[in-house]
Amino acid sequence: MDDTLTAFAEAKLADLEAQSLRRTLKPTRRIDGVWVERGGRRLISFSCNDYLNLSHHPAVKAAAAQAIAEHGTGSGASRLITGDNPIFGVLEARLARLKGYQAACVFGSGYLANTGIIPTFVGPGDLVLVDELAHACIWAGAKLSEAQVVMFRHNDMADLAARLAERRGAARRALVATDGVFSMDGDVAPLDEISRLARAHDAWLLVDDAHGLGVLGGGAGAARLFPGARVDLAMGTFSKSLGGYGAYVCASGPVIDFIKTRTRTVVYSTGLPPANAAAALAALEVIETDAARVARPLRNARRLTSALNLPQAQSAVVPIVLGEAETALAAARDLEAQGLLAVPIRPPTVPAGTARLRLAFSADHTFEMVDRLAEAVRPWLRR
Ligand SMILES: *Cc1c(COP(=O)(O)O)cnc(C)c1O
Repeated sequence: MDDTLTAFAEAKLADLEAQSLRRTLKPTRRIDGVWVERGGRRLISFSCNDYLNLSHHPAVKAAAAQAIAEHGTGSGASRLITGDNPIFGVLEARLARLKGYQAACVFGSGYLANTGIIPTFVGPGDLVLVDELAHACIWAGAKLSEAQVVMFRHNDMADLAARLAERRGAARRALVATDGVFSMDGDVAPLDEISRLARAHDAWLLVDDAHGLGVLGGGAGAARLFPGARVDLAMGTFSKSLGGYGAYVCASGPVIDFIKTRTRTVVYSTGLPPANAAAALAALEVIETDAARVARPLRNARRLTSALNLPQAQSAVVPIVLGEAETALAAARDLEAQGLLAVPIRPPTVPAGTARLRLAFSADHTFEMVDRLAEAVRPWLRR
């Protein structure tokens, strides 16, 4: 019998290869978080989301090791069965306090959080408005909800207002969903204006602050930059500046109770391993006590943007948009030859024609490392 599945995959791969869009895994050992080893070479990474380098912090590693010794490697079941290790409650209380909410719920990952939360609150007959550059898992959650999904132009408040005016009336409930810091662009959503528009149209607001937590607002995240903003569902992850894995959402007590009762990715997915929660707690302790470390990723990003006369960095992420996928691949190869790892980001992760080097800055990059990167990137800006 013909193996049509394999033939299908081969044809798809050949097609992607022809467009420079095929992706392959490259085994990478993160030696100390900043230095990585790839293909037998040591490189300085500007592509890790571990902005505070907490994946390699002694206190965070010790907390995870201790939790494994005490609780084992897995939580054993969904939290609603026997998987609700007491450490989750401690972590949730700490997150709620840091973010200024009544309550929080921990998830297995950011992808699980957004694909679970959105369908919990909106469904058929409802409306979800999503920033065009919002993370893929917000889009996935919106689609899963079976609500009407409408895109608004990136950070464009006039467009959001127009979409709300046009569609809100016909919908029963409405949710606006955006990243706090955009993962591939590093810019910040105007959360004060978004929250004002959402309120004015009786829509709820979900903000995914995966890249803001631990970096902006003294570590509390992007919303802290907008004192007037009201975010109903403040979501974020442990996978970026906390250096671990897992995610959370903060909200009012009843909203969190409802999530814990109904959200499918909580109910039908195994609880996070307790060691991940212990690591996240230890990472939050660093964030709340080591202000100098929290300030460094943005300081490093701004050193690069000022060296290259780019718009001032708003977060630890700086995009160097180069256009075609082939150009981004060539730039990344050039940097790698100089000992610098900057992974090229291509469609569909970013819109066609905007392939880029997405530079991510760490608290443990030195100015000397950032300056080397600036000199290596400079020739690519002039093309
Ligand atoms: C990384 C990321 C996620 C996904 O989180 P994981 O924990 O890696 O699944 C969600 N949203 C944004 C904005 C992200 O950058």
